[in-house]
Amino acid sequence: MNNITSTHYDPNCFLCKAANSNINDLPTYDQPIIESKNFIVVSALGQFIEGYVLIAPRLHFMNMMVIPQNLLKEFFELKAFVSKLLSEEYRKPIFFEHGILSNGDREGCCIDHAHMHGIPANLTILNDISCLFEFERLEFLNYDIDLFYKKLKFSKPYFYIQLANLKQYIFYNNKIPNQLGRKVIAEALGCHNYWDWSQYPFFERAESTFYRLRNKIYFQEAR
Ligand SMILES: [Zn+2]
Ligand SMILES: [Zn+2]
Repeated sequence: MNNITSTHYDPNCFLCKAANSNINDLPTYDQPIIESKNFIVVSALGQFIEGYVLIAPRLHFMNMMVIPQNLLKEFFELKAFVSKLLSEEYRKPIFFEHGILSNGDREGCCIDHAHMHGIPANLTILNDISCLFEFERLEFLNYDIDLFYKKLKFSKPYFYIQLANLKQYIFYNNKIPNQLGRKVIAEALGCHNYWDWSQYPFFERAESTFYRLRNKIYFQEAR
């Protein structure tokens, strides 16, 4: 991509590299499975369940709330496509984001490049996140892009989750526990020992997701 400013490109960030490098320079598990004009979908490392992906903007923004508003439509369309793909190939997915606010904090997540987690987990109930930390909660029953964007113009880190039944929730607080979403979902799936992706990267499973979804898209396009 041309015209990338240094504030929107971090040479040490794997998502920046995945979005802006020649794929031959990337390990398979970091190569984009899907690319749109402004976003990529990659296989997630630390997938305690196969089919786990991340949707990220090409540019290095802090969270999904600070990406330019005119990109949101593209983002939601891509998210819907990923949802369909995961449902067909694996299970209905849940999506979540650890919305961090500052470079140093990395609340809730270890990556400071905006990304939405997509996990084919078919969970329709929320584990009791309220036990884990103090929170304020917004609940959306309808899919509303404007509301999603405007309501989130707050100054606290947040945790966004969309369950497999399409119910969406946003929790926000001064401090979101590290890797909160991964902990909650790993627990719900009975793989609670594997929430820490740096300890359990599951490289082979990430590659398997890459090939399975790439092939599915390839055959869909060929039809
Ligand atoms: Zn980045
Ligand atoms: Zn994250």
